[in-house]
Amino acid sequence: MSEYEAVIGLEVHLHLKTKTKMFCGCEAEYFGDGPNTHNCPVCLGLPGVLPTINARAVDYGILMGLALGCRIAPWTQFHRKNYYYPDMPKNYQISQYDLPIAEHGSLEVEGNRVGIKRVHLEEDAGKSVHPAGGEYSLIDLNRAGSPLIEMVTEPDIHSPEQARAFLAHVRSIAQTLGVSDANPEEGKMRADVNVSLRRPGEPLGTKVEIKNLNSFRSVARALEYEIKRQAELLKSGRAIQQATMGWDEGAGKTYVMRLKEGESDYRYLPEPDLPPLQVDEAWIARLKVAMPELPADKYHRYVGAGVREYDAEILAYNPPLARVFDGALQSYSGNPQTLANLLNADVSGYLNEKGLEVGQTGLTPEHLAKLAAMFERRDITNRVVSQLLPEIMDGADPEVLVKERGLAAVADEGSLKPVVERILAANPAVVEQIKGGKLQAANALLGQVMRETKGTAKPDVVKKMLSTLMGVELA
Ligand code: ADP
Ligand code: ZN
Ligand code: MG
Repeated sequence: MSEYEAVIGLEVHLHLKTKTKMFCGCEAEYFGDGPNTHNCPVCLGLPGVLPTINARAVDYGILMGLALGCRIAPWTQFHRKNYYYPDMPKNYQISQYDLPIAEHGSLEVEGNRVGIKRVHLEEDAGKSVHPAGGEYSLIDLNRAGSPLIEMVTEPDIHSPEQARAFLAHVRSIAQTLGVSDANPEEGKMRADVNVSLRRPGEPLGTKVEIKNLNSFRSVARALEYEIKRQAELLKSGRAIQQATMGWDEGAGKTYVMRLKEGESDYRYLPEPDLPPLQVDEAWIARLKVAMPELPADKYHRYVGAGVREYDAEILAYNPPLARVFDGALQSYSGNPQTLANLLNADVSGYLNEKGLEVGQTGLTPEHLAKLAAMFERRDITNRVVSQLLPEIMDGADPEVLVKERGLAAVADEGSLKPVVERILAANPAVVEQIKGGKLQAANALLGQVMRETKGTAKPDVVKKMLSTLMGVELA
């Protein structure tokens, strides 16, 4: 299989976070509402009504284009893309064709530069619902006319892992800009993947397109499957048939939807009901000024501040965590790596366990900064950090908790010595083991001291005391 190189290009759809739909005044956020409750004559495709362009959606298209290093079109236009779909009332989709809002960009992902062919704006279709066992289908047009960005990459991706990383980067850029929740679980981000194989140095091979993948995991699995399938065909001397495919998540297989011969004829025509759109320098400048710091810039700033690359990457590309981290840095003068550790280990561990996002908890940047500062000054131990974390995540102030409960780290030997002596006296067998050379048994004693002191004893101080009292050199 290593004989072939995979060549992958992605087409990514992002649902835009505008108040209203792409071409009408209907509220764009319909999630959880009853079917056909977000509609008007425009998004129902009734005759005699006119669309209007949502300026905010255009802003978002420009922002995404800028973030991806694209050239923003000074002059752009919408086109009708004609095809029949039962849940598309007009029988055409208003999209962009030869004059997209942005073109010719790139995004660097883990050292690999992925070219961005284009970013364009379009509207989504409605949704067909097929009730189980029913001999009919239902149509929900809430999604019809929703604003979308479609971005198309050059075929610069070479593995399922790179494809997944690319999508994760796009998601964090969209979230950072606030243009989209880019959440595949809610259908706010979908990808079509194109993949072919070739021997290194050869021209591009015949590709297949796998449509409508709605999780990063499906993207990676579908690509792995398809790369293997194509490699086997090529190795046995057969040709790849150009095709549009679907992905069967349950079976873990791609299947052919249609074999493609040449380009489908969508009879694109300039949308006669919408004026061409002129994007002048002032418009672009206004958006540039208000543009938030992008994940790649955050990453470099964090590394520059002394955060390890590994941690900087996790934080910079996770907008909710980055928000807390940046907020905490405002009131924190210690080593930023300490903050990063708390977020990436303790806080993330807690969030994973509870299935929460940091924004859904009571954690404030100020509390995190206080916690990190106390820990860094060795005012509290690791144990106390873990012990207090759930309450801090619920909004408690770590300084108050430590004070109220007397959890400040105990370093003075005077108050620790009686505790350590008592525990040595109560565990003669363990002491014998340690003296006999089984040094790791000392961890059990250390654990007991920690429990007795509610985690406030400093482990290195306790270890030293154990060494001295037993006359054994502990590592
Ligand atoms: P089509 O005309 O079939 O839509 P495009 O040139 O518009 O093809 O490209 C669609 C997507 O397919 C892009 O993301 C592009 O990078 C990718 N692509 C094009 N050719 C190949 C290929 N030979 N192998 C893999 N991906 C490809
Ligand atoms: Zn409407
Ligand atoms: Mg195309």
